[in-house]
Amino acid sequence: MGFITTDLMTENFKDIVDLKFTAEMEEKLDKIEHGEKTYLNVLEDFYSGFEKSLREAEKNMENVHINIPDEVSDVTCDLCGAKMVYKNGRFGKFLACPNFPACRNTKAIINYADGACPKCGARIVIRRSPKGKTYYACERPREECGFMSWDAPTKETCPQCGKTLFKGISRVKHCLNENCGYTQKKKTDEKS
Ligand SMILES: [Zn+2]
Ligand SMILES: [Zn+2]
Ligand SMILES: [Zn+2]
Repeated sequence: MGFITTDLMTENFKDIVDLKFTAEMEEKLDKIEHGEKTYLNVLEDFYSGFEKSLREAEKNMENVHINIPDEVSDVTCDLCGAKMVYKNGRFGKFLACPNFPACRNTKAIINYADGACPKCGARIVIRRSPKGKTYYACERPREECGFMSWDAPTKETCPQCGKTLFKGISRVKHCLNENCGYTQKKKTDEKS
């Protein structure tokens, strides 16, 4: 968007996006300050030229439709192999195949959390419940693992079993490995 705007500015308002313009304007502002020019003169000088370029730009760009290129993700379309692109939909961002309409594949964007699933070691994805509460689940299909937690995974691992430590509202880090059950002792100097 920034590049496109800059290109359009240089194309249509050459005089303004020019270093000389800025330098000259500084000089004129100094002159106003020293009473050598009035601000009305300066504005008049500026505006007569600007008004003309503005009208011309309006005419030039009247039927111009600019396609902002889609941001390419590193997710591969599993139907056609293209790199999928980010799109903005009614329900937020999602991934779509760039070969639309030939390929109509879309995908939800997956956000991974820190740590690994304590049941199977796969990655943990951040999800939202229908009520909007964030929860964490194993990235594998539910029937294969089924790990889910309201508590957030941390970067720390359990000193007893090496699995990811989680923390809930109490902020106390604990292990969710069913065979372990480690809970970090709250440090006395730690607040909340
Ligand atoms: Zn595709
Ligand atoms: Zn798992
Ligand atoms: Zn543990």
